Amino acid sequence: MVDGTKGSLWDATAARSTPWPELKGELGADVAIVGGGYTGCAAALAAASAGASVVLLESHDIGRGASGLTGGQVIPGLKYDPDELEAMFGAELGPRLVAAIGSVGDEVFGLIEKHRIDCEATRKGWLQPAISARTLDMVKRRCDQWARRGAPATFVDRARLGELIGTDRYLGGWEDRRAGHVQPLSFNRGLAAAARRAGAEIFVRSPARQLARDGSRWLLRSDSGAVRANAVIIGTNGYTDALWPGLSRTVVPMISMQAATEPLPAELGARILSQGHCASDTRRLLWYYRRDAAGRLLMGGRAPFRENLGPADAVNLRAAVDTLFPWLRGVPFAYHWGGRVAMTKDHLPHLHQLAPGVWTALGYNGRGVGLAPLLGRYLAELVAGKRPDDIPFPVTAMRPIFGYPFTRTVARALIRYYRMRDRLEVE
Ligand SMILES: Cc1cc2nc3c(=O)[nH]c(=O)nc-3n(C[C@H](O)[C@H](O)[C@H](O)COP(=O)(O)OP(=O)(O)OC[C@H]3O[C@@H](n4cnc5c(N)ncnc54)[C@H](O)[C@@H]3O)c2cc1C
Repeated sequence: MVDGTKGSLWDATAARSTPWPELKGELGADVAIVGGGYTGCAAALAAASAGASVVLLESHDIGRGASGLTGGQVIPGLKYDPDELEAMFGAELGPRLVAAIGSVGDEVFGLIEKHRIDCEATRKGWLQPAISARTLDMVKRRCDQWARRGAPATFVDRARLGELIGTDRYLGGWEDRRAGHVQPLSFNRGLAAAARRAGAEIFVRSPARQLARDGSRWLLRSDSGAVRANAVIIGTNGYTDALWPGLSRTVVPMISMQAATEPLPAELGARILSQGHCASDTRRLLWYYRRDAAGRLLMGGRAPFRENLGPADAVNLRAAVDTLFPWLRGVPFAYHWGGRVAMTKDHLPHLHQLAPGVWTALGYNGRGVGLAPLLGRYLAELVAGKRPDDIPFPVTAMRPIFGYPFTRTVARALIRYYRMRDRLEVE
């Protein structure tokens, strides 16, 4: 059964937000920030807490980009395993980078605690279950590499995984207890509120239309106002527009979709993720899922390249629920929603200095709940004068993807291919 007409679960259950004004007139600031997701709000919070005057402009509303739509899973790590990253980035930066990406749980849950953000924060770990012998080996390697670096990472055999997730469809997996999950829209709103308490001025329905040099400063124009600033941070990720020429061509926005049931009665829900984990599996087009605070089941996965997703687009998510938890057949989805995940060609997030005083971080490849707040803080530190060598993340030159107009066609073909490979690989 495919159902679900209530839109985003997060809109329905988020902590209330105080209204934000539109920008009208001209302002001056040390730092102007574009984008009101995790990157922009975390940067605003860090910069304002360090004493800078900050103005943030958001086109729509706080959390209207990916940050208010995510699965809310805070997962340390990238596509590459620690040994690979150290080989890629060398003996000096490699280990610092690995430590940084391993610390995203501390960053996010630390912010939540420090600023008392009400966002259903749950830090009970993440499971990555394996669909095949090949990916079970991969998972063992990954777990071993993190455990060698002192992370609370444990291999979980098939029987135990069956107990933790409530399904016998996987061969085993690993548990990372640094991870957890949040109500993502509440977290985004909480970051914005904390930034405001620290002194940042936040404006919504205020798209940054133009960014240009203004003597030694930068001038950011919106529809009914403008900001003059010494430095600018662009935090627009998968929703990047033409504000900075070429930036949108550095990421490929893919659509990810989620659906959620109503709270499950105990006789249906008790076995599913009973210890409070969140999970995402080793499919190339992964299935990610968890329960929310009220006991709903959320399922997420790749969706068609469309912004306006309808209930019928949740057909793959329905199949995922029916496969993993067959006793939920016939339990309808009540909510569905989706948004853009910004992928990069090298599968790494990018941090760029676009011009003197203009910085950006984007391309989190589906790991932005943890990474975007961390990189938002790094951006604020760079703007405040920290040297790029002193942050544990590579600062690279912006490189638009060659042949960008064809990336969507290539991505569509890849999705079909990956879906077929996943089907063939599942054991
Ligand atoms: C359905 C879905 C599920 C996901 N699940 C997970 C998950 O479980 N775990 C995980 O780690 N990651 C997940 N992600 C990825 C994660 O949500 C993102 O990486 C993260 O939210 C990016 O944050 P951001 O602040 O950089 O960008 P966004 O939150 O997208 O914010 C960008 C903002 O910039 C604004 N903007 C754009 N242009 C302008 C302009 N010119 N002027 C003013 N404002 C502008 C937009 O309106 C938007 O609000 C998911 C993504 C989606 C879509």
